[in-house]
Amino acid sequence: MREAFAFRPSKTFCVQVGCGTLRLIVDYKEDGIIHKIRFPRLKDFDCSQTMIEGLCKTCTYQSRRDMKQTIKDLKGREDKACKRFNVACKSAMKKGKLGAYSCADGIARVLEVLVNEKEKKAKKEATSPAQA
Ligand SMILES: [Zn+2]
Repeated sequence: MREAFAFRPSKTFCVQVGCGTLRLIVDYKEDGIIHKIRFPRLKDFDCSQTMIEGLCKTCTYQSRRDMKQTIKDLKGREDKACKRFNVACKSAMKKGKLGAYSCADGIARVLEVLVNEKEKKAKKEATSPAQA
């Protein structure tokens, strides 16, 4: 399936966190490398948006070198959750929806989705018969 705008595609992720819905837009380069992670500022959001913007920037550079390490660094636990982490977030996570303990954790989870997709694609290409 061919996409209409193959050049620099982007994906939007919505992660349920205690602070609200963390929306992240990831722009790719043609080879699947992250070009930029964007965080559109929201009116109604509890965490420091400057902090999240900073994290997005750092992640963009770090993920080019080592995505898995970046995920490890950001991944949160329940005891480090954002202040307003609640049952709704927890149940979203249990249902397999994108949810996170903290905003940093949310970014890590988005990166995780990207890594999984990339690996799936690589596997698919490896198992499909070579083109004649
Ligand atoms: Zn937060």
